Amino acid sequence: MKTMNDLFLHLLKDIYYAEKQILKALPKMVKAAETSELKRALEKHQHETEGQVQRLEQVFSEIDKPARGEKCEAIMGIISEGEDVIKKGDPNVIDAGLIAAAQAVEHYEIARYGTLIAWAEQLGMADSVSALKQTLEEEKAADKKLTEIAEASVNRKAA
Ligand code: ZN
Ligand code: FE
Ligand code: FE
Ligand code: FE
Repeated sequence: MKTMNDLFLHLLKDIYYAEKQILKALPKMVKAAETSELKRALEKHQHETEGQVQRLEQVFSEIDKPARGEKCEAIMGIISEGEDVIKKGDPNVIDAGLIAAAQAVEHYEIARYGTLIAWAEQLGMADSVSALKQTLEEEKAADKKLTEIAEASVNRKAA
């Protein structure tokens, strides 16, 4: 990797891989969730994630590169922690555990999109900047919604 373009492409492949893994993980989390509010929030984010994958494909096309992922060990680790919760969590605590896992995913994404936006701005990629910003806002909103659900009922139920 020699240029900021190289760095950008590397990180773009990382988050593309991550979003696709998240797309596979979310339906399992929806299924495992106990409360309907959490199910709904995760399901909504699953649909948003489909759109986020498409936005990333737009960004690849803006730099004339094929949309390809590159294995991200970080997201695999975070997702596997979530799978542990699904396997081992009792009904009264599973939603609290799922929210913790989902928020770790959102925070990883928020970190990645923040950097991608800064680099895309530096590289003068206006269309990509606005697409990536839209996604960042969805990730932040998903994170906030999860906090609200935890604080409104889930944490009390688990205590
Ligand atoms: Zn990487
Ligand atoms: Fe995402
Ligand atoms: Fe990564
Ligand atoms: Fe997300």
